[in-house]
Amino acid sequence: MSFEDLPVEVGVIYEGERVRKAQMYCEFGGPKVTEKFELCRAKKMDEIEDMKVIIEGPDISELEEGKSYPLGVIAEVAGEQIEEELEGVFERRLHEFNNYVQGWMHLNQRYDIWMRLSKDSFNKGLNTFQVVGTILMRLYKAELPIIEKIQMRFITDPDAIKPLYEEALQIYEARDARARALSDDDVEEFYGCVLCQSFAPSHCCVITPQRMALCGAISWFDARASARIDPKGPNFKIDKGEVLDAFKGEYIGANEALKEKSLGEVTRVFLHTMFEYPHTSCGCFEAIAFYIPEVDGIALAHRDFRGPTVNGLAFSTMATSVGGGLQTEGFLGLSIEYMRSPKFLQADGGWERIVWMPADVKERVKDGIPEELFDKIATDADTMSVDDLKAFLKEKQHPIAERWAEEEVEEAIEAAAEEAPMMPYPTSQPIQMSTMNIPLTGAGQDMITLTLKGVKIYAEKAIIKRTKGKKGK
Ligand code: SF4
Repeated sequence: MSFEDLPVEVGVIYEGERVRKAQMYCEFGGPKVTEKFELCRAKKMDEIEDMKVIIEGPDISELEEGKSYPLGVIAEVAGEQIEEELEGVFERRLHEFNNYVQGWMHLNQRYDIWMRLSKDSFNKGLNTFQVVGTILMRLYKAELPIIEKIQMRFITDPDAIKPLYEEALQIYEARDARARALSDDDVEEFYGCVLCQSFAPSHCCVITPQRMALCGAISWFDARASARIDPKGPNFKIDKGEVLDAFKGEYIGANEALKEKSLGEVTRVFLHTMFEYPHTSCGCFEAIAFYIPEVDGIALAHRDFRGPTVNGLAFSTMATSVGGGLQTEGFLGLSIEYMRSPKFLQADGGWERIVWMPADVKERVKDGIPEELFDKIATDADTMSVDDLKAFLKEKQHPIAERWAEEEVEEAIEAAAEEAPMMPYPTSQPIQMSTMNIPLTGAGQDMITLTLKGVKIYAEKAIIKRTKGKKGK
């Protein structure tokens, strides 16, 4: 495959290349633009014209330098074996193929794309979608021979994008809904994805029916289809193997696959918790879950949430510190679809542990939130500080508030036990029967009475310790 007739270079060496603001000619999508999407559609052979680029609206050369623009990208593919089931798989490859282009950065997916063109590449002649489209189509046909015909559409006209954007949202939702019918226990294999290793070398997604990939673009069905049609591609089968902990989501097969794909960096993963061995996070997760120690709860925020969240940190700040393929206890990149999963962070308490989230995401996943909890979870409309959040949770009788009361009792018992005087009995004389009163303060009770009957105790000292997991578990 040759790109010598084109003005910029194309190759894997440009994957991971960043176009910073100072180097940018212009950008498409990203945080300043609402209407942006990329989509792949399966077409009949006679519905499209092979290797054709269609530009609807102003082309790159007609756009002003330094600005952000809306963009819709549609790859239309056809072939004897092409089915609708493969659309999501082909669509996700846009991330990889766009990033092969010198001076053309692609981030995120679906309705959240962000592309940047560098001044250098613009000056070299990358000033039309004709070039971008030609590169993408050549890469598609070279890497996925199942595609017999392909046509690319680039839409920059804001009026034309609007209805297509709405349609795209419905298509994503229909794809996700399909995967909701299946449980992790119904299948013998999970799937892995290493497409993001160019940005996060130790990252490997484990995709199960009830754990959509954290980019929100690859379901278990998508990954399965991808592994079948492109066995040398980024998706591969993971035999579940022995279940080590069904509740936390630990499987021997997933551990082994991660160890191999991360070159030994990651050896264990718990799929349904953000503590101990959480899933790694790359850089393109749709949302982030973060632990708030002051309330012992978990908050959620999505990529489009602007400004600081309830803990004072912005999504981008937290994303920077947990991305790159790291396992960071208390922080987890995840997809919005995973919030609908019956296994959503189940080992951490699931929705009973969620204390704050942006109002628009809450509305979006409303059908996945237990009805009795919906009003008890604060949003940005209710509170934007941890102190106010605590008061909100108490007032709404959020289940986490009960946890505080239990913890206060445990802490008081622990403190009292540690301060309790030594038994007034010599150690050589066993206690035959004893009643010991331990005063408690600050736990809503004045006294706890421990009654020990018919026992013999030989001890120099008795220490009562908390037996539940430490905070955060
Ligand atoms: S986030 Fe995961 S599933 Fe999505 S493209 Fe990256 S590696 Fe693949």
